[in-house]
Amino acid sequence: MAKEPMEVQVLATEARRKTLSVEVHPTGQVVIRAPLDCSKAQIQLVLKKRERWIAEQQAFFKRFEPRTPQRAWVAGESHLHLGRRYKLRVEISVSEGVAFSGRDLLVTLRPDAPATPQTIETQVLRWRHAQAKEIFERQLVQCHRHYRFSAFPQPALRVQQLVKRWGSLSQGGTMTLYSGLVQAPAACIDYVIYHELCHLAHADHSASFFALLAEVCPQWMARKQLLEATIC
Ligand SMILES: [Zn+2]
Repeated sequence: MAKEPMEVQVLATEARRKTLSVEVHPTGQVVIRAPLDCSKAQIQLVLKKRERWIAEQQAFFKRFEPRTPQRAWVAGESHLHLGRRYKLRVEISVSEGVAFSGRDLLVTLRPDAPATPQTIETQVLRWRHAQAKEIFERQLVQCHRHYRFSAFPQPALRVQQLVKRWGSLSQGGTMTLYSGLVQAPAACIDYVIYHELCHLAHADHSASFFALLAEVCPQWMARKQLLEATIC
């Protein structure tokens, strides 16, 4: 694995500080708190000694980083929808909205609205949320038809933009799905829905849970990997 350059920030803190400490922040940044009289060579020595631990911490935090690069929300940038790439196109018109136009995702803004990345992002996220609700609802109905779920009522669906997980199932029987999932191929969305449906029968991630998941969605592992490789 390629080694990335280490970003190190040295903070000479209060003079009373006697010891040197090394911290790794979630951004991957390494912060050293050192006594004022600490030499550069001493810091280098400590860094060298803790090199492996630092790399492990950085790798740990990296797991949570989005797989897709930060979006700039400008024309020409590519965005995913159901696993297909569309190029963002921006036009000014009398009414605002988002629609497919061939392989373009056409964002229409009103002449009085500033065509900034923020307004484009707001439009696309609002549209994506509406698309997600419609598509997930349809897929949930389909997945729930599996005879293994016939003893359980179909969960109510909630689609959210800001969640830490792909999906979850509450004790009250509400399934929450992350709206950004709509960027992934439909098979990946099915996998997340099946996973949550299996929680109707097994609350935990026990062997029985995975046996049921493998029965209702035999390709779940490949779909999970594809999902993780596709979006954040
Ligand atoms: Zn689960």
